[in-house]
Amino acid sequence: MASGKSQLPSIWLAEFTSKAEFDAKASELGAQLEVMAAIDDRMLMSRHPFDIKAWCAACKSVTDMRITWHYCGSNPTGSVHPAWTETCACSQCGLNSRMRALIDLLVSKLNVSQTAHVYIAEQTTVSFKVVQNLFENVIGSEYLGPGYKLGEVVADFNGHVNVRHEDLSRLSFADSVFDIVLSQDVFEHIPEYLNTFSESARILKRGGSLVFTVPFFYDQAETRIRATVDAQGSVQHILPPEFHGNPVSNEGSLCFQNFGWDILDALRNAGFKQPTANMYWGPWAGHIGFPFFVMSAHRA
Ligand SMILES: [Zn+2]
Repeated sequence: MASGKSQLPSIWLAEFTSKAEFDAKASELGAQLEVMAAIDDRMLMSRHPFDIKAWCAACKSVTDMRITWHYCGSNPTGSVHPAWTETCACSQCGLNSRMRALIDLLVSKLNVSQTAHVYIAEQTTVSFKVVQNLFENVIGSEYLGPGYKLGEVVADFNGHVNVRHEDLSRLSFADSVFDIVLSQDVFEHIPEYLNTFSESARILKRGGSLVFTVPFFYDQAETRIRATVDAQGSVQHILPPEFHGNPVSNEGSLCFQNFGWDILDALRNAGFKQPTANMYWGPWAGHIGFPFFVMSAHRA
């Protein structure tokens, strides 16, 4: 990969540590969001897939990024737009907008050292390859199913070589071994998500960082529980089931909760300081649409 430096503006617009802080800025943000929506609309010349040139934080160069209409919806101004977090995939590394934003946060905002010990809760994905290229000490894993031992490395899993099995709510790693723990759109699929936060804190060194994305409902103070698992291990649905794509299964993964701002309190209670919703936007780096968030928190 190229090791260029971006001369373009930073994509990091704001940091929020609570809903109150976000709401206080929302009115002032309001008119500016209309500017962003207008930029989106001007870019959407066609309802066919199309490419834009933008800076890729993972490839450290300008690449072609493909905008598709999968999961499209309408925005507050009534215009139909792509699911911006899920599209604008880089033609070189394959990462979509939210995946590139997470990399951008690590590289340009947290200035994570190349020698950092990184755990990423995925191993069969394009993001894993990118993280492995950026950092020297990377361990990945997937949740392979209840038939595997924690920490077990499976030589061949559906054609993927040496895949490590981990359960984020009870990790097999020792205490304080990682500088960075990464997770992308996984916590919403784990009913014991509070355990995943305390487990992430446990395996991080003091001052180490948990950096993650989740579908985040910035208009919700409280996390909405969609489903739970009872004592017998059966799923109890509270709201209509919502399934998301899963790289190691064709069935998709059930979404157990839609996170609201109390996710930051949950992180604080799990042993983190400065839990923050980092808001990003920047068409020059392939981040278009309503500004979205990468979460970060540091081990206290
Ligand atoms: Zn790229």
